[in-house]
Amino acid sequence: MDRATAAPLLSLVVPCYNEQDVLPQFFARVTAELSRIDGIDFEIVCVNDGSRDQTLAVLLAACRADARIRVLDLSRNFGKEAALSAAIQEARGDIIVPIDADLQDPPELIGKMVAKWREGYDVVLAKRVDRSSDTPLKRWTASAFYRLHNKLSDVPVPENAGDFRLISREVADALAMLPERHRFMKGLFAWVGFPTAEVEYMREPRAAGKTKFSFWKLWNFALEGVTSFSTLPMRIWTYIGAFVAVCAILRAVMLVIRTMVWGVDVPGYASLATAILLLGGIQLIGIGILGEYVGRIYFEVKQRPIFIVKGRYGSRV
Ligand code: UDP
Ligand code: MG
Repeated sequence: MDRATAAPLLSLVVPCYNEQDVLPQFFARVTAELSRIDGIDFEIVCVNDGSRDQTLAVLLAACRADARIRVLDLSRNFGKEAALSAAIQEARGDIIVPIDADLQDPPELIGKMVAKWREGYDVVLAKRVDRSSDTPLKRWTASAFYRLHNKLSDVPVPENAGDFRLISREVADALAMLPERHRFMKGLFAWVGFPTAEVEYMREPRAAGKTKFSFWKLWNFALEGVTSFSTLPMRIWTYIGAFVAVCAILRAVMLVIRTMVWGVDVPGYASLATAILLLGGIQLIGIGILGEYVGRIYFEVKQRPIFIVKGRYGSRV
């Protein structure tokens, strides 16, 4: 396809979990914005990720009213990463744009992204230049996470870029070839590579509804990110173990010499107890980290599907 002149199909893919309050505004703004972009057709693929409110009803009403809207209903809540994988697989477009339902990702940016795609880029990242709508704690933990992740992992994940981005059909096909069940999408996006451009935007506050990510969820998400893309946390225990062993040998030699020179010295209960407790703790941490990886291997070998589709609504373009 000659991108400069083609009339591509753009698939906007939207994971939705308990978003009944924001969806009407979302559709209004997004369809207006997409209609404004010259020379493209579009479809909107919404994935209902097991919502407990009226999200599905709202989506189905939208789908009946507008033939460009399609709905994929998952059998339960599988989490955003799985919902996004489902949405990308379902999309038919030459261009795929994942976007959050809460209007924190401004749809006005999509026109600029498409322009970059026409120039030949396969990935166009939307970078947040201003995260002041997030709490200071979230900003700090996010930046600490990126720094740690990018130190440990071979493929750096770009900081301040969420899942809001443009990917070409080629990138979506590459993503479909990655078989893992634990899907840290930001990492997978980075792993597949391809020529990448950036556009910048201001992160807005949520238009309605509440965030779905608690601190604990984000912590687990961060663990997921690091363990999916690096084995360093596991390998480092070899070195810690070797270091402790060398210290122990030095200490043993010191004790032998001291005993030979000054004779037997019985007291030493406190240092013994400290050493045992310290080493016990260090070993448990090591085993815990091993457990993180073994647990992930366990989930991968079960080969369960990433999500289960309960229903499909709306006709494919
Ligand atoms: N989401 C989802 N499944 C979940 C949690 C979230 O599909 O289990 C969707 C949610 O509906 C929204 C997007 O993921 O479209 C981002 O969620 P949210 O805005 O709550 O995250 P935040 O912006 O606070 O990080
Ligand atoms: Mg949000």
